[in-house]
Amino acid sequence: MRKKVAILGSTGSIGQQTLEVIRKYSNEFEVVGLSGWENTASLKEQISLFRPKVAVVKNEYTVRKLKKDLDNSSDIKLLWGTEGLVKISTLEEADIIVVAITGIASLIPTFEAVKKGKKIALASKEAMVAAGELLVNEAKLRNAKILPIDSEHSAILQCLKNEQKDCIEKIILTASGGALYDFTETALKNVSIEDALNHPTWKMGKKVTIDSATLMNKGLEVIEAKWFFNIPVNKIEIVIHPQSYIHSMVQFIDGTILAQISEHDMKIPIQYALFYPNRTINNFSRLELTKIGQLTFKKPNFNKFPCIKLAYQALEIGGTMPAVLNGANEIAVNAFLDSQISFSAIPLIIQNTMKEHKPKYNPNISDILDADYWARERALGFCILE
Ligand code: MG
Repeated sequence: MRKKVAILGSTGSIGQQTLEVIRKYSNEFEVVGLSGWENTASLKEQISLFRPKVAVVKNEYTVRKLKKDLDNSSDIKLLWGTEGLVKISTLEEADIIVVAITGIASLIPTFEAVKKGKKIALASKEAMVAAGELLVNEAKLRNAKILPIDSEHSAILQCLKNEQKDCIEKIILTASGGALYDFTETALKNVSIEDALNHPTWKMGKKVTIDSATLMNKGLEVIEAKWFFNIPVNKIEIVIHPQSYIHSMVQFIDGTILAQISEHDMKIPIQYALFYPNRTINNFSRLELTKIGQLTFKKPNFNKFPCIKLAYQALEIGGTMPAVLNGANEIAVNAFLDSQISFSAIPLIIQNTMKEHKPKYNPNISDILDADYWARERALGFCILE
């Protein structure tokens, strides 16, 4: 029996690579649902190749556009909006839900999939950042499994596979440093969009590439790690590792460090999540250590990149604060990409928004969505002032 997979965000970078993996293992997996939002051209190709039963786009208009493009023989069901996303994330027959939509839009479909007890391969870190506590508790209750596709968390999952939780001394998240790590503080004030999008080792979507340049990406991953592995925040450390071949490490109570090392290829963590807990052969390119020669490490500079500090703070405060951090960050990143604010204004806007928030503890899903909405409005206000 082939495993049935639904992919939310199939036309994005992770979505496309997930389909590449599935294509290589077409006798193990079949695609039952896809969502492509506005990219109907690419979604159309995916539909003709993978023949899902349901596809989701942004709105009624995009449904009509896609319908025109599809040949008449296609009996696919076309849906739209968040409701459509929830339909495919809770499809009765789906065994695995891959969530790879950018931003907070991933939260409701992920939460509903958890409530159905699904196996979820989560690439959208924003859902875990905003609502980690809620998602993890609900998953326990409903017997759902949330597996990371983020390369760092996949690395940690692999390092922890045969280990006892109480033997963990700390988690060491590696960070490439992003496009701007060696810029001086003065140079950081005049960073262009092109500079910030010029990531040294990974090709990714725009949002996560800017998050890498501010190092917020690593901050969000600290929060993600806390919830994925139930580790106190003071046991999660960040190390700058510019070559990004070590995807993360775990240090144990006997002084041993285990690391997961591989090529910069998201198909590796995607495949690991799809086949989890098994390992499967592939022909992706192999890392040649002798060609790399050396791996280097340095301490992160929290003062130059204050977004990391803000993420640790949000996690320590807890409740709805991480949702506010995430919401304000999404607004600030978009404003930077729209040339409305400078690069160095991104952390200021997040910090100002966090300062005004009164966190709610043990939040339910509507508390989190309210906090997210509030943070966006507030952050937008600060962007206009910039
Ligand atoms: Mg990552």
